[in-house]
Amino acid sequence: MATLRIMFPQKMSKETSEAQEITIVPQRTCVSCGRKTEKTELKRFVWGENSPLEDIPGTASGRGAYCCRNEKCVHSMKVQQKKWKRLFRL
Ligand SMILES: [Zn+2]
Repeated sequence: MATLRIMFPQKMSKETSEAQEITIVPQRTCVSCGRKTEKTELKRFVWGENSPLEDIPGTASGRGAYCCRNEKCVHSMKVQQKKWKRLFRL
């Protein structure tokens, strides 16, 4: 009679956890210039009361838009009001 062995998930060994430690930085597109870059290189904006607000801690809920850190891109994102509806799903 065969013995049915039930495997319970075990804590990963040190070796396994190291092997799985691959850093993948998500890529985001700037809403102003369309440049694709690492998320950490961009500012995140969320919808405030009636204008986009910079999400400094990056934890605000809701749909966010990403924009380069340079003033030119931030400015053009802020003036493109027609885009906001789509960007923030207003
Ligand atoms: Zn940009």
